[in-house]
Amino acid sequence: MQTKVMDASSPEAIELAARLFAEGQLVGFPTETVYGLGANALDREAVLSIFAAKGRPADNPLIVHIWHRDQLEGLCEMPEGAEKLMDAFWPGPLTMLFPRTERIPDEVTAGLPTVAIRMPSLPCTQRLLKTSGLPIAAPSANRSGRPSPTTAAHVAEDMDGRIPLILDGGPCQVGLESTVLDLTHGTPTILRPGGITKEMIESALGTQVALAGSILRPLKPDEKALSPGMRYRHYAPRGTVTLIEGEEEKVLEALRKSCMGDRDAGRKSCVLCFTEHLQTLSDCDPHDLGSRGNDAEVAHRLFDILRRVDEEGMETIYSEVVPAEGVGLAVMNRLGRAAAFRTVRV
Ligand code: AMP
Ligand code: MG
Repeated sequence: MQTKVMDASSPEAIELAARLFAEGQLVGFPTETVYGLGANALDREAVLSIFAAKGRPADNPLIVHIWHRDQLEGLCEMPEGAEKLMDAFWPGPLTMLFPRTERIPDEVTAGLPTVAIRMPSLPCTQRLLKTSGLPIAAPSANRSGRPSPTTAAHVAEDMDGRIPLILDGGPCQVGLESTVLDLTHGTPTILRPGGITKEMIESALGTQVALAGSILRPLKPDEKALSPGMRYRHYAPRGTVTLIEGEEEKVLEALRKSCMGDRDAGRKSCVLCFTEHLQTLSDCDPHDLGSRGNDAEVAHRLFDILRRVDEEGMETIYSEVVPAEGVGLAVMNRLGRAAAFRTVRV
């Protein structure tokens, strides 16, 4: 199959994408978080072809994307607190779980009684969803196990020849996947941290919000994943990632020593560091995570860097860390999983 790449701001591209959705085909499209691989959420066959194109395990459910709240009618029920959070954060990078109706095929939710729904804020995504008129099921547009795509070029790397169309909307503003929040089991619980933080949700709800246990550590062998995606090795480059945390000077020294030691042993090695440390680590092939303290910038860059180190054939990658607070929690969740939670304290 020939994969066409079109500018997401062109009306012809939006018309074509909407037509492809109506025909049960797949389209790669930008959102403010990462690029999605979409299909008509009400078309079982189309949804199955998402899993095939990604190589995604069938028990990992998809997020349904809408542009207008009226589309919720008939698809799901409204858990307590959902309206408040929609008022505060939709459109935007917050996905919520809703008790679902029979209209949502089992394939979308992996048989779960809830469906994950969000309303993206990127204007061209809204135009696409509005023109199509359909609820669009879309996971991230990467091959399963690869970092989520944050540019149209990333989508093409993974999906060229597998889907008919990719809409190019430039680099994604947030760069990490949406926050996933469960309001259906008592205490509101963040299953996956993202751009809408725990603090933001707590202030909108006026109540405490819990974090799923496995956000900053691996699942235990007998632990049930609240969010099925947590079971899988995600965001992982082919090389071995190690996180180094501690006092600044010691971290810099450990980064250099680890990288140089590996090179002496014949391994291709590099470091991921803040902009302020590029100079100090200039002999360690430093990859720029963004400014220290600007977690949104680190979020925006992270997946592209993880893809680049793969392209460069890096065998070992040593990285600085950010505090696991605010957007930093989402960064550390993704970086932690890329590193299989291998962390060295210095
Ligand atoms: P992706 O769109 O690739 O970022 O993946 C969506 C993620 O949302 C999945 O991996 C799940 O972890 C989570 N998710 C989607 N639907 C549900 C659901 N009904 N219950 C719990 N988690 C869900
Ligand atoms: Mg994904």
